[in-house]
Amino acid sequence: MDQYIRTPLYLPHLKVRTEATNLFINDVPSYLIHGDLDEPNYRHCPYCHGSTMHLNGRRTVRLRHISIGKSIIYVEVTYKRWECQDCHKAFRHRIPFREKGHNITSTFAKQIEHFLSIGETPTQCSRKLHYNRTTVQHLDKKRIGKIAKDMKPRHQSRFICVDEFLLHKGHEYATVVIDYETGESLFCTQGNTYGQMIEFFHFVGRRFMEGVVAVSMDMNASYAKAFRELWPHIRIVYDGFHMVKNYNDMVLTEVRRAEQRRILDEIERARIKKDLDLMKELKQEMRFFKNSRFLILSNRKTLELKDASAAEHNRILFEKYEKRGLKLPIGKHYRKGRSIERLQEVLSSNEKLQTCYTLGEMLKSSLWCRDRQQFIDGFRMWFSMAKTTGYDELQRFSNMIRRHWPGILNRLDIPISNGPLEGTNLLIKNIRRQSYGIRDDDYFFLKIWEATRKHPKCRQVTCSPHQFSA
Ligand SMILES: [Zn+2]
Repeated sequence: MDQYIRTPLYLPHLKVRTEATNLFINDVPSYLIHGDLDEPNYRHCPYCHGSTMHLNGRRTVRLRHISIGKSIIYVEVTYKRWECQDCHKAFRHRIPFREKGHNITSTFAKQIEHFLSIGETPTQCSRKLHYNRTTVQHLDKKRIGKIAKDMKPRHQSRFICVDEFLLHKGHEYATVVIDYETGESLFCTQGNTYGQMIEFFHFVGRRFMEGVVAVSMDMNASYAKAFRELWPHIRIVYDGFHMVKNYNDMVLTEVRRAEQRRILDEIERARIKKDLDLMKELKQEMRFFKNSRFLILSNRKTLELKDASAAEHNRILFEKYEKRGLKLPIGKHYRKGRSIERLQEVLSSNEKLQTCYTLGEMLKSSLWCRDRQQFIDGFRMWFSMAKTTGYDELQRFSNMIRRHWPGILNRLDIPISNGPLEGTNLLIKNIRRQSYGIRDDDYFFLKIWEATRKHPKCRQVTCSPHQFSA
């Protein structure tokens, strides 16, 4: 092997025995190099230091080496096995060029690591190098582990966000904490309860936690309790988008479902009474509800944009074909573009839904108001309006807001949100998709750790003077 010194082909302590054989392994043209491990004889037993050694046969192992052009090189290494006559233990010399735990050479492992470090996914890498993905993933885990070390934060974060994401199918959640300003993930673990936050506090340490100013989270999460009990100086800010989502789930969806159920019951009763006119009327009302979920939960602006793009699409089609007297080709059709109109139909057909929808719009505009007095006035009005309606769903929601009021008010002083986490969630989805699902959670968390550090962000948080007054 000496002629290959200083080339990637060089394998230290390998004595090549015969010419390389050409053959096909898994339908890929390959070279097979046969060699012996050039190793000194054992003089003493490494276990009991006894000196009666006995040669206990030879073994051969086939290691995958790098590729040259389209051919792959394999090395068949023969090594000696020894046995101690005193303690009867078997041992052998380590193959110096073998990657620990795998049947590949360390040169090939380095090649895989190089491909991974320039941003290729394990799947792409394994396809390119004709090697199984599991090993590539193992090496990837080792590589990121080397960079991440203990994964502890390297700098102080002032603002952090915490949220949960679905780890495995069937209500298995994980908690992720990120730095608001840079977007780097600080902590990832299985579970989404109080205990996981305590775990986080222990992980980052007292010094780090003392430097944190505020944390952004969802109102529903059980993380707030841990912060209030152990780190009361950290201001909790409830995320606005999650609040809107809570309103959609707790009020709009509930009301829509309840109303649909009510109408169905009434139709049934009308059928028993054989009141055909009433049945027709109720069925008309029911028709408005059909496919209304998207309309009710979407932002009005989104619907307007959707309608506008449909109108533009229709105009182009009309000018291209019908204006010239041509028929529309197969596969092309006009879009409906009646979202706003349909939304009005649903809302005007049902008073309760309309009230809740209007209050939802009010809630949104109050939430994103930056003026302190206007914010408080907006919510005060909202509370009184919700109370006058007398609807249970609204009552429940306004009670929840009251319970979380200090954290909602903190939005004014510290304008942070869980927005950056949405980006992280997208990254998480991408990682999962690229690897066709990752079963090893530790590896998954390492991948998240690496992905969030690839393009660090630089968000500025300007706190208002009220910050330390409350
Ligand atoms: Zn021994």
